[in-house]
Amino acid sequence: MKVVVIGLDGASWDPLLPYINRGELPGYAQFLKGGLHGPLFSTIPYLTQPAWKSYSIGKNPGKTGVFHWSKIDWKELKFRSLNSLSFHGEDYWDILSANGHKVSIIDMPSTYPPDKVNGVIISGFNHGDGPWTYPAEFEKTIPSSFVKESVHLFTRNQDPETTMSGLEEEIRSRFDMAEMLWDSDLIHLSVEMNDHVAHFMWNNDHVMYRNFKANDEGIQRILKENKDGYTFLMSDHGNGPIEDEFYTNEFLAHEGFLSLKENETRGVSRESVVNVGTKLRLDKMVRKLPNSVQNRIVKRIRAFDSSMESYPEARINWKESRVVALDEGMLYVNPLYAEEKENILDDVAKRLLALRSKTGKNVIKNVLRGREVYWGPYVSDGPDMVAISNELYHQRLPLSGHVWASDIPEEGWGYRLPQVGHHRIKGIFGLVGPGIAPKEISPSIYDLAPTILKLFNCDIPADMDGKPLL
Ligand SMILES: [Zn+2]
Repeated sequence: MKVVVIGLDGASWDPLLPYINRGELPGYAQFLKGGLHGPLFSTIPYLTQPAWKSYSIGKNPGKTGVFHWSKIDWKELKFRSLNSLSFHGEDYWDILSANGHKVSIIDMPSTYPPDKVNGVIISGFNHGDGPWTYPAEFEKTIPSSFVKESVHLFTRNQDPETTMSGLEEEIRSRFDMAEMLWDSDLIHLSVEMNDHVAHFMWNNDHVMYRNFKANDEGIQRILKENKDGYTFLMSDHGNGPIEDEFYTNEFLAHEGFLSLKENETRGVSRESVVNVGTKLRLDKMVRKLPNSVQNRIVKRIRAFDSSMESYPEARINWKESRVVALDEGMLYVNPLYAEEKENILDDVAKRLLALRSKTGKNVIKNVLRGREVYWGPYVSDGPDMVAISNELYHQRLPLSGHVWASDIPEEGWGYRLPQVGHHRIKGIFGLVGPGIAPKEISPSIYDLAPTILKLFNCDIPADMDGKPLL
């Protein structure tokens, strides 16, 4: 018996349906016609790193201990990046491995550094400098068509159609790798590039369609090969259009909750360096280099990225700041102000709820204490409060100099395009396999791990948050 999980980062049913209804995406359509299907409810925040591992561990962030890409380190006064080692709990494929099943995990974000399994892990975004596959020597067998981290960035200076042809190759390479590792009981593959297209190309129907089509071809290949097994289609979260981006820390500074250092500038002229690189078609050149060199170059390009992507720790006057935010409205009170914490949070909540966008809409839908959102032993490592956005407004962490992205002048963006799409809590779900009849359901992301363990007749840990769907 074989289980294949096709994980499309940021996929949701809504944008696919018009094409499916016209008969243009037969791979996706098979889940609607012949299997369990519906929206998959993600974590809060519906963000790549916590969400993917909540799927594989089967638990909410209060139990995995990871709520974001990074955490605030109040001792060192910095944002600390997190990786696979930061998570508590075992992935369902660890349990399968311990029961003698062979597993292959391809490109799932937050799996670096790769864990030891009975099989192979090719870790996904975001890599460090160490071995990125388990076993480490597996890297040598990976064909050059498999790009380690995407170098095909949508930029101002390149035609999106050109970028898309590189992405199509990358998408195909993920499905090729699944076929290369077909001799496994479980195969999980992620296509991270799917999310990248949604963020920057939501308003470009043709590029979006090319992306759907590339994934659909891969889905059809898997369904054809896995006729006798179970195939899941899932995502870490969905995506949808946005009207503007909101810089939460700029707002906190404006309202006096966050204090900024004076005379601290954001190193400039990086944009020009990257612009030159993009004009020279740097991505095409980089693509021809070995994976290890590609990775170093991409990291350097991203380090040169405009301030819109960087952590602003050097600009924050940490001791004087009462509240600091991560992306997605994750709000943390400085432990120095612990005694006033509840009053501070009430005050911030009131101001956030009163906030209106430029088009007069509520920006924040709801404000909840961390303990109302999460449960488990690591709730206190999470945010003190979560401001849940109206989905038209994506909340961001950097200090861009403006509360709203639409106020950032053209030159402030450097080579980067502003985002036109962002995450939604409803991702995509589908399951086809022996004895499964078509039915619409709306599972949670925590349900997949127990469902897969049950298919393999393995015991389901009692503290998993999900329930088997079969
Ligand atoms: Zn994602």
